[in-house]
Amino acid sequence: MDVQETSDMNLMEKVVSLCKRRGFVFQSSEIYGGFNGFWDYGPYGSMLKKAVEQLWWNEMVETRNNVVGLDSTIICHPRTWKASGHVDRFGDIMCDCKKCKTRFRVDQMEDPTTCSNCGSKDLTPPREFNLMMKTYVGPVFDEEHIAYLRAESCQPIFLDFNLIRIATRQQLPFGIAQVGKAFRNEITPRMFTFRSREFTQMEMEFFCEDEGSLDWFEYWKEQRWKYYTEKLGFTEDEIQWAPHDKLAHYAKAAVDIEFKFPFGWGELEGIHHRGTWDLQQHQEFSGQNMEYLDPVTGKRFLPTVVETSVGCDRTILAILCHAYAEDKAPTQKEGMEDDIRIVLRFPPRIAPIQVGVLPLSKKLNDKAAEVQKKIQQFYRTELDVTGNIGKRYRRQDEIGTPFCVTVDFDTENDGAVTIRDRDTMAQERVAIDQLKQYLDNKIYGW
Ligand code: ATP
Repeated sequence: MDVQETSDMNLMEKVVSLCKRRGFVFQSSEIYGGFNGFWDYGPYGSMLKKAVEQLWWNEMVETRNNVVGLDSTIICHPRTWKASGHVDRFGDIMCDCKKCKTRFRVDQMEDPTTCSNCGSKDLTPPREFNLMMKTYVGPVFDEEHIAYLRAESCQPIFLDFNLIRIATRQQLPFGIAQVGKAFRNEITPRMFTFRSREFTQMEMEFFCEDEGSLDWFEYWKEQRWKYYTEKLGFTEDEIQWAPHDKLAHYAKAAVDIEFKFPFGWGELEGIHHRGTWDLQQHQEFSGQNMEYLDPVTGKRFLPTVVETSVGCDRTILAILCHAYAEDKAPTQKEGMEDDIRIVLRFPPRIAPIQVGVLPLSKKLNDKAAEVQKKIQQFYRTELDVTGNIGKRYRRQDEIGTPFCVTVDFDTENDGAVTIRDRDTMAQERVAIDQLKQYLDNKIYGW
């Protein structure tokens, strides 16, 4: 399902501009004019991305005994993609406007006979376009040596299913999860990172018996909804279910979770019942038996799969849109405009900088560095020493730092610091010895 363009593009522009200004996300290869559909995560962006990946990993793998992890290669045997159907069928239908040269995905056009950019009716006939990115492996660049960058991170999970099952002694039902890059030669990359050509997926394939698989489908739906509302703090107005109109022939159910981006509703995650399709295909193409032997009943069968598949980049974009706020602090002086505070209200657990450490004066830099040293192995911290304290608070607000620890002239005497809360702006005096306990509670709820 694609985005419907509507509402608050202004917010989108602000988010994109903040991302560039503060080093969250910018275009790849900018000095060469950029490279369409490719994005770099800068210093704060890469910390945010790692935190989001870690949150998902913790939620899906580390806190469950029946889900294990995988970190597979991006390029795998080319037959993988023949078996999965990607080489033959993974494509979109596109056409071009002959007049203004705009390219369209036909399924996204409101009126497939008219160019929405210039109104011309002179369009090329629709033609198929495969989204797989190709490369060559080995010294000869010919048909035989073509390999593909994976179009989804889940296929290697199916290839390694037996190895993982044996190595971990897992019995059904159990899941295998992976976070990793995927590549699609999207015809119309757009909406910032929403539709990129290189992106990160966070996917989990849950293997179970066919009987009861719809219950697992419901279970994962519920888990994933809770993750968005409880862990990321998205409100019930910001996300919605979007059941698929058409199901793949092997699927019993499929639904997306959509987020209300400034440009309209867009898919964040798909929860799919995949039947036995993938294992069946790889069994056929590899000649290897992919069946599971039930140790209790002695029955042999191909497990059914329920998948949860989410884009990390889209999650980050949703988090940024959700977090962006502008507070108005009315100025005391007549005739002056209200003071605007830009703030990213990230959940503390995923904020790129969780604790800013700020000396009140340059003379306190060493003491502040000492305080930072005490906590930097537990949290992502930044020592911010330049500019007046007000400006530094603003800078930390803008990158979404939930807590600022200020070291002042009393610190030496009372062994305490002042902690400023990003959202309430309340300030609390806390003993340095109690700092970890205080921050653990605020950031993780421990
Ligand atoms: P869409 O309909 O938006 O093209 P899709 O249905 O093809 O997405 P899936 O193949 O189900 O997407 O991939 C799972 C998830 O991977 C999506 O929910 C999305 O978050 C993410 N994703 C897919 N394509 C892209 C892309 N081009 N750029 C960024 N993220 C993507």
